[in-house]
Amino acid sequence: MLSTMQDVPLTVTRILNHGATVHGTSQVTTWTGESEPQRRSFREIGARAAQLAHALREDLGVGEDERVATFMWNNAEHVEAYFAVPCMGAVLHTLNLRLPAEQLTWIVGHAADRVIIVNGSLLGLIAPLLDRMPSVEHLVVSGPGDRSLLDGARARVHEYEDLIAAKPTDYDWPELDERRAAAMCYTSGTTGDPKGVVYSHRSIYLHSMQVNMSQSMGLTDADTSLVVVPQFHVNAWGLPHATFMTGVGMLMPDRFLQPAPLAEMIEAERPSHAAAVPTIWQGLLAELTAKPRDVSCMHQVTIGGAACPPSLMEAFDRLGVRVCHAWGMTETSPLGTVSRPPAHTIGTDEEFAYRLTQGRFPAGVEGRLIGPDGSRLPWDGESAGELEVRGPWIAGSYYGGAGGEDIRPEDKFSADGWLKTGDVGVISADGFLTLTDRAKDVIKSGGEWISSVDLENALMSHPDVAEAAVVAVPDEKWGERPLATVVLKEEATADYAALRDFLATRVAKWQLPERWAFVAAVPKTSVGKFDKKVLRRQYAHGELDVTRI
Ligand code: AMP
Repeated sequence: MLSTMQDVPLTVTRILNHGATVHGTSQVTTWTGESEPQRRSFREIGARAAQLAHALREDLGVGEDERVATFMWNNAEHVEAYFAVPCMGAVLHTLNLRLPAEQLTWIVGHAADRVIIVNGSLLGLIAPLLDRMPSVEHLVVSGPGDRSLLDGARARVHEYEDLIAAKPTDYDWPELDERRAAAMCYTSGTTGDPKGVVYSHRSIYLHSMQVNMSQSMGLTDADTSLVVVPQFHVNAWGLPHATFMTGVGMLMPDRFLQPAPLAEMIEAERPSHAAAVPTIWQGLLAELTAKPRDVSCMHQVTIGGAACPPSLMEAFDRLGVRVCHAWGMTETSPLGTVSRPPAHTIGTDEEFAYRLTQGRFPAGVEGRLIGPDGSRLPWDGESAGELEVRGPWIAGSYYGGAGGEDIRPEDKFSADGWLKTGDVGVISADGFLTLTDRAKDVIKSGGEWISSVDLENALMSHPDVAEAAVVAVPDEKWGERPLATVVLKEEATADYAALRDFLATRVAKWQLPERWAFVAAVPKTSVGKFDKKVLRRQYAHGELDVTRI
């Protein structure tokens, strides 16, 4: 028997219509680096999204299911593209600005992008690559930047504002099947070619509702969120969609992602929430130490994308800012777990330990741990295995390219359709996930796993340490041993022995690294995470100055 309920498709169009009407006065504020930021209401964003859709369809001939790429910072125009493209029935393809040229050109070709909307300030990055992007026919340029960089370009160049200026401010949005593609994002590509994850209207809708749940980010129209996490990385953790559902204001940093302007915009615009990976916050905290400012307006900061070191959470606590730790992946839209301690621990000694975990699965995400022998492990807080997840906003395959079949590599999807995350951890009896490693980063020493995360966290709590990354390196006796690479703070005095003694009070003796290297900076991936592949390669090629103690 079927229900008697209406079957209304869960589409991005409904999110847009809701935000532009019910929350029409909420604002997207874009930092300009000048005295006044640009302010645009959700109603204006809706009208301009309609204008952009007209321009894309009528002037550039964008058809159904066609990918429209963006090469942009976080700003109001990018939000307009976020709605115009999916709502007209095309697919928003956000390009990661930080990818190496080879990967970027490969991705544009694989997605067959014909139109790219690009910020003027990024022309220097993309102009030299256009010859290697034969699919690209149109560039739509928005915001300040030197247009002469495009002189001689084969693609036609349009000004964003000119293109939309005379278009109607409403659009007869088509009623779309909720399972159709709305947006796509290629994973940072840790191994092999990058993989295209394609989000549906339905997955974005359900994920946004989840972001808005009080046990998740739980923001309301009384909040403004500083969206530092890039719009080119997993839809800025779903914030542009989630805020249009609830009327949360968005503060967009555009290209001003350095610690000083971030501190300045927090002080000036007083956001109540912010979202970013740990490395951004480490930089901001150093800036705040050098030049203290009141940042207590931020009641909540969502940190994810990499493990939040305890020292970072403590530093924020001291500033009166509460960190909420979350875990996710490009393949999981991204929110897969959020750490809100159980009610009975609030105000007790247990609370902090709970906050440091990756958190609990929200309704809609199911998780399981699989042991090295393929068996399903119990949620006992001790049995460590690879995390697998499934749910309506979790990828079930990767994009196979125009006309190609979607791909389901065996190392990424189980036979019964769960996503293999490549993350290793434990789950407590009350459902809290603690990641101990990435499957590829696990250090297996004499048959025992050593957590690189534990070693890094312990090292980063040393007052002289700015950053620390630990990787597995081959060892004749033990198979693998940890190599600790450390960035010291300015004027730090600690030497290897001091750091090792410090670690010895925090981890088991057999876990202490023998190999140490001070480095100027830990190499980072395009989205600011420690790039352990590079560290391992540098070690293998003898490029690190390693001391054995
Ligand atoms: P990406 O698809 O580039 O967002 O990378 C996803 C990966 O980042 C995950 O599979 C984890 O390895 C890592 N990651 C994300 N969030 C966390 C977190 N809170 N703690 C530890 N690792 C994380």
